[in-house]
Formats: sequence, C-alpha cells, structure tokens
Amino acid sequence: MSKKGFIFDIQSFSVHDGPGCRTSVFFTGCPLQCKWCANPESWENRKHFLFAEKSCKWESGCRACRDACPNGSIKFDENGRISIAYDICNRCETFECVGVCPNNVFKQCVKEYTVEDIIKILRRDFSNWGPDGGVTFTGGDPLIQHEFLTEVLKQCRHWQIHTAIETSAYAKQEVFLEVLKYINFAFIDVKHMDREKHYEGTGVYNDLILSNIEALVKSGWKGRLILRQPTIAGYNDSDENALQLIDFMNRNGLYEINLLKFHRLGETKWNQLGKEYEYHDHGDMTKEKMEHLQEIYLDHNIACYIGDNTPF
Ligand code: SF4
Ligand code: SF4
Repeated sequence: MSKKGFIFDIQSFSVHDGPGCRTSVFFTGCPLQCKWCANPESWENRKHFLFAEKSCKWESGCRACRDACPNGSIKFDENGRISIAYDICNRCETFECVGVCPNNVFKQCVKEYTVEDIIKILRRDFSNWGPDGGVTFTGGDPLIQHEFLTEVLKQCRHWQIHTAIETSAYAKQEVFLEVLKYINFAFIDVKHMDREKHYEGTGVYNDLILSNIEALVKSGWKGRLILRQPTIAGYNDSDENALQLIDFMNRNGLYEINLLKFHRLGETKWNQLGKEYEYHDHGDMTKEKMEHLQEIYLDHNIACYIGDNTPF
C-alpha cells in the first residue's frame, strides 16, 4: 500500500525556494522548536487545527462547537467567551469543531496525502515550472517523515522532476545522506554556531547538524548547497557568530549563504495554536546590520545573499 504523509500546505508558483518556478510542499513535523518559527502549525506531525478566536460569534449564543466536541475541550467563561483546553483536546480524528462552526473559527491545517496524491499535483504543475523549476520539500522539516519523503523522491526521479529541500539537517546521519541522494538543491539552516545558544533558540544542540553537513560534503554529493540563517537581533547577529560560521564553511569548501531578516509573520499562528510567542517585541534587524553581516561574509569570499536575493 502507498505510504501516506502529513502535509500542511502545497503552494504552486513559488519563486524563492529554489531555481525557477516551483511547487512547494510543506511537511509537518520538526525536530527543532525555534522561538521565532513562522510555521508553528508544522511542529506536530499529525492533523490539527488553527483557532481564530476573534471570529467567534459567541455573543449570539452560539455554542455549536462546545456541544459537538466529544472531549469537552471547548470552554466558555462567565462572560461567554470561548477558549480551548489544549491539554484535553486530543485532535480527535473527526474534528467536529471544524465542521460545525458557521464562522470558520476552526481551520484544519494538516491533511494526509499518499505518494500518488503528491505526484499527481506535481505532474499537474509541471507545465508551470519552465525549464529550471521543480518541487521544493519544506516544512516543518521534511526529514521527520523521511520514509514517505524518500518514496516521493524516488517518483520524482522517475518523472525527472528537479528536487530541492529546506531542512534543519537534524536527523540520523544515514537517513540524512540517504534522502539527500535524491536531492538536487538544498537550503540547510545553521541558526547558531555556539551549541548552547543553538539549544537556547531551537531546543536542540547543533552538533548533529554540523556533522551532517560535513558528511554530506565528504560524500561527494553533486547538488548545490546554500546555508541559511534566520538572522535575529540579540541572538545570532554578532560578528563573532558570522566569523565562526565562515570558518566552518571554509573548512568544508562551502561558499554560499542566505541571510533571512527576522520577521513576525508567524505570530498570529502562535496565538491561534495556544502557544506563547516570545519575540513580539524584540529580534528586529536593521537594513544596515544585515548589510554589515553581508560585508563580513563577502570580505571572506563567501557569497552572501540577503532575503529573496539568492541567484538561482
Ligand atoms: S479537535 Fe476534537 S477534541 Fe479537539 S476541540 Fe476539536 S472536536 Fe474537540
Ligand atoms: S461554533 Fe464557531 S461561532 Fe459558534 S461558538 Fe464555536 S467557535 Fe464560536
């Protein structure tokens, strides 16, 4: 039977996630939990929902979701205002809350796909891509569902589809190298060179990530690798961190990095998932500071692209 995977979005016509025009497939599941994550709905590798509390018309007396929920997870306070008891909600298979709400307060954000479902969508999009385009697997981190991903990648090879991945590289080395065999282009995030600071920001140490990148280079992999760093003021924007990363890149013959300026596009989703967002009032990078970091890389013969300016 065909393997199934959890996917939280599929976007056609992506132009910043690899060469040409691409279809981006967003996998759920991530081994990191970055405090600034723009896609926190991707963390759990299962179906779940976003909760747009502000759209609830509780004043009208509607309690349809509460009455439908089999677990008693939906509560109303003494003023009638709604909340979710996330510790009780088990993301029941039926998602009664999503179906009954007349105001789309609950939105299911993860769906299950077979390998054939994905390939059908890619083949549908094929004519949009042009000669350089293809598919980008992103997330979350697609490596979490590596068995499903590998099956999809084998089919991509069969159909001669160009493949790219955006990954943390935080996976068992044999898994990482096996998946990358089928990948033509990779963005790999290095959030911080200091292992304690990496842990502080993401919940994991960076040792496995760095050793996987080294192993990939040593394996003679033929794809194009660009390191990536979400750049956050007060966290990883120091000259020292840039110089350490340059040293790592030089030792491994890597010469391209993409710096992404911190943004808060995910903040609403943190709230809708009942999670606390720490970065609502700090982390902003100035244009000058981004350019200063870019200069450091350029001075050390590393091609450094800011934001969407990566040449593909
Ligand atoms: S997912 Fe299921 S358990 Fe959770 S709030 Fe909705 S209906 Fe209740
Ligand atoms: S069903 Fe929708 S509108 Fe009605 S109380 Fe629940 S969330 Fe609010």
